[in-house]
Amino acid sequence: MTEPNRHHVRVLIIGSGPAGYTAAIYAARAMLQPLLIQGMQPGGQLTITTDVENWPGDTEVQGPALMQRMEDHARAMGAEVVTDTVTRLDLQRRPFVAECDSGARITADAVILATGAQARWLELPSEDKYKGFGVSACATCDGFFYRGKEVIVVGGGNTAVEEALFLTNFASKVTLVHRRDSLRAERIMQDRLFKNPKIDVVWNHQVDEILGTEGPLSVTGARLRSTLDGSITDLPADGVFIAIGHSPSSELVRDQLPLRRGGYVEVEKGSARTAIPGVFAAGDLTDDVYRQAVTSAGMGCMAALDAEQWLAEQGQAEAGPDAPTEAEIASA
Ligand code: NAP
Repeated sequence: MTEPNRHHVRVLIIGSGPAGYTAAIYAARAMLQPLLIQGMQPGGQLTITTDVENWPGDTEVQGPALMQRMEDHARAMGAEVVTDTVTRLDLQRRPFVAECDSGARITADAVILATGAQARWLELPSEDKYKGFGVSACATCDGFFYRGKEVIVVGGGNTAVEEALFLTNFASKVTLVHRRDSLRAERIMQDRLFKNPKIDVVWNHQVDEILGTEGPLSVTGARLRSTLDGSITDLPADGVFIAIGHSPSSELVRDQLPLRRGGYVEVEKGSARTAIPGVFAAGDLTDDVYRQAVTSAGMGCMAALDAEQWLAEQGQAEAGPDAPTEAEIASA
C-alpha cells in the first residue's frame, strides 16, 4: 500500500486461499481495484500440502506452486495483494473498517470474507504439551524430522490418508488410528493407503493421551482406547500427526454475523451474501460440505460477482459522489 495507515477501497478481500484469490481476480477484472489482505498463512492450507491431483487442468501440481500462480494471477489482473493480518473488523458501520496487525486501517464499501479454516486438535492436555515436540498437524511441515522413525496419524478423512502416505517418504512405519471401521477418504486415496506396505491401520480406536518424556520433551507413543470395548493399548511412536478435520476461521466476525453449527458463516442459499448487505463470504469459512480448492474458488467467484452487483445497486461500482471523502475515511 502506498499509504500504510489509511486506505479506502471499494472491495476488501480477507484471506488468500483459492476463494480469496479467485474473488480478487474477478473483482479486479470488474475494475473494482480490490485489496486482498493475505493473513497469517499466505496461500492458505494448500501451501502445506504437496501433490494436488484434482485441480482441473493440472493432472498434478504442487500446492504451494498452485497458490503462487493464483497470487500472480490476481496481481496481474490488478488486485493489490498485501502481506498483513486483519486483527479487527467492524461491520456495524459504513464504510466497513478493518484494522491490521501492521497498524494499517482500511475502510471498504464491500468486504469479501475468505479466511478459510484451520486444523482441529483433539484438545487433550498431553497433545498441547507435546505440540512442537512430536505432536504436529502438518506432515509436509514436520515429516522430514521423522526419517527412519515410527509415526501415528489420527483421523479417517482425506487429510489423514494424505498425511499418512506423505509420511511414508520419511518414516519407517506409519500407523493410521481411526475411531471407526471405515474411512471417509476418497476411494483412490484409500486404495493407495491399503497398498502401502509401510502403513498399518488401527480401526475403532481413539487417542486418549499422548505419551512422552519430560526432559527433553519428546513423544514416545499414544494411549489408545477401543471405541468398541473401552480397552486400553499403548502404541509406541516417535511422532503423532493429528488430521481430524478443520474448523472455520470465523473469529473476526463471530459476534457480528450469524454462524452455523461449527462456526461456519451463514450465506444466503445459492449466493455469497451474508446477513449484512455488502459483506460476502466464500470458501471453507462458509462451507462445511465440499471444502475443496475448486469449490472454494467457485465461491470466491460468486462473492466477487455478488459484490459487484451489490456495489452497482448502491451506485458505488464507480467511485462517485457517494464515495467517502478523505476526512470521512480518516475519522472512520
Ligand atoms: P474430514 O473429512 O472432516 O475428516 C475428519 C476425520 O477425522 C474423520 O474421519 C473423523 O472421523 C475424524 N475425527 C474427527 N474428530 C475426531 C476426534 N475428535 N477424534 C478422532 N477422530 C476424529 O476432514 P479432512 O480429512 O481434513 O478433510 C476436510 C475436507 O477437505 C474434506 O471435504 C476433504 O475431502 C477435503 N480434502 C480434500 C483433499 C483432496 O481432495 N486431495 C485433501 C485433503 C482434504 P469420522 O469419520 O468418524 O467422522
